[in-house]
Amino acid sequence: MKLFDVYSLLPVEPVSASGSRITDAEGNEYLDLYGGHAVISVGHSHPRYKEAIREQLDRIGFYSNSVQNKLQEELASKLGDYSGYPDYSLFLCNSGAEANENALKLASFVTGKKKVIAMKKAFHGRTSGAVAATDNPKIVAPFNAGHDITFVPMNDIAAFDQALTPEIAAVIIEGIQGVAGIFEPDTAYLQHLDKRCRENGTLLILDEVQSGYGRTGKFFAHQYSGIRPQLITVAKGMGNGFPIGGVLIAPELKPWSGMLGTTFGGNHLACAAGIAVLDIIKDEHLQENALQVGTVLIKELSNCLSAPIRGKGLMIGFDTPEKFPDLRKNMISRHRIFTGEAKPNVIRLLPSLALSMTDAEYFIEVFKTEIR
Ligand code: PLP
Repeated sequence: MKLFDVYSLLPVEPVSASGSRITDAEGNEYLDLYGGHAVISVGHSHPRYKEAIREQLDRIGFYSNSVQNKLQEELASKLGDYSGYPDYSLFLCNSGAEANENALKLASFVTGKKKVIAMKKAFHGRTSGAVAATDNPKIVAPFNAGHDITFVPMNDIAAFDQALTPEIAAVIIEGIQGVAGIFEPDTAYLQHLDKRCRENGTLLILDEVQSGYGRTGKFFAHQYSGIRPQLITVAKGMGNGFPIGGVLIAPELKPWSGMLGTTFGGNHLACAAGIAVLDIIKDEHLQENALQVGTVLIKELSNCLSAPIRGKGLMIGFDTPEKFPDLRKNMISRHRIFTGEAKPNVIRLLPSLALSMTDAEYFIEVFKTEIR
């Protein structure tokens, strides 16, 4: 059997990794400023993370959600305390798409409605509802297209007000749009959404799958605007590569037995990974590091590019200068530096939150030579 060919692959095969470095099959070392799509939060192969998973595997790796699992409670408690949402509940699943799918489903259950407002250029994943709320017709199959989604331009308050009717169950928005190329919702816009959703009996879902988990210097990007959305979705950095996702749910939203469910979500190994990630982020002050190193990167990039540098902390995007269309490719092939991209011409930096200042400075030095 061969693989179903849906990915365009870089000509690199990583076989080992440590911190912000990746080594390929030929022994070449790369600086990783992409983090496997914002997934590597505490760094590749962190010793404490490896140890936690190994130890857990020695005890029990998996059991379904039909039994007690204290690790889930420990993860929920630590996530609540560390993120500033101790009064919220946590539903555990396996990916970002699943987190959004469950948040949309929950909003629909609670309100008894099915219409959703999403943002133009949004990306929320590839399950049925999540992909329907994603503004990319190329990845929406006819099967997914039955959902009732209205797309509005982000940061346009008048357009939002026009779309928000009493039939709307949920509004979904990313903390910072990632796949679109790093675009931030304005503080006033988020505050308006929060207020109007509450007045309208609509649930606001903050998709923090990419922008959450300390990446922007706050635990969640939306915390820069002071709002408290009723549903927040997480994944990516949550497991540092171990598949895990979750929905943080406001206390007024009440569960009933069987309302949501999953076989693998919240399994023992995933929880061990998730707990280790939170402990490391906290003990090693990685959220603070993300802000510090990210601020320097943004400043240095602003000094060498005329186009604006977008984002916060270690979630950074900028348009590839027209004169250097192969910039990303050259950074990999000539300098062995991985960066991310967003179509059609954006370079995205989504490194580990533990990226050192020395590595950031090295990147800037090399970058300057490429755009001379
Ligand atoms: N939401 C956002 C904001 C994302 O960036 C992504 C993935 O890139 C997803 C959801 C989907 O996550 P997953 O690929 O884990 O399903």
